[in-house]
Amino acid sequence: MNPRMSWLAVAWLGAVILMAGCDVKGERCRKCGMRVEDHPRWIAGLTTDSGATERFCSPRCLFAHWRSERGAGARHAWVTEYYTQKPTPVNEVLFVAGSDVIGPMGTALVPIAGRAAAEQFLGDHHGTRLVSADEITVEFLRGLAAKPARPTTED
Ligand SMILES: [Zn+2]
Repeated sequence: MNPRMSWLAVAWLGAVILMAGCDVKGERCRKCGMRVEDHPRWIAGLTTDSGATERFCSPRCLFAHWRSERGAGARHAWVTEYYTQKPTPVNEVLFVAGSDVIGPMGTALVPIAGRAAAEQFLGDHHGTRLVSADEITVEFLRGLAAKPARPTTED
């Protein structure tokens, strides 16, 4: 293949990837509008008051919605557990806040099953707080947004 041909091949491949990224059919985060499948490691969801299932790009968006008026009455909230990458009920994990791990919405609320594992993560990733789902209030979420961590880990 001559250099020009290989350049074309790369350009074509790039175009294909771009088009795939622009697929408008993907399910959107109920809170921020991002495509949930773009960040499979962070997907979260719940069942609304009326019984519909909704998904979010991240635990942060899940809680922001759930703690707002629009999320009133929602139940069966779940998150993608950090290590197992499995959907896990929010009351079966602890969330590490303020760590150096970045999610789709910036500083992540990292869901981890088991207190020992969560405390280990807190230390390893310079987290600032370990909280249960009940402790994630509107005020708590506001505090998160105002305090960006040192971004050293992508995704
Ligand atoms: Zn979102």
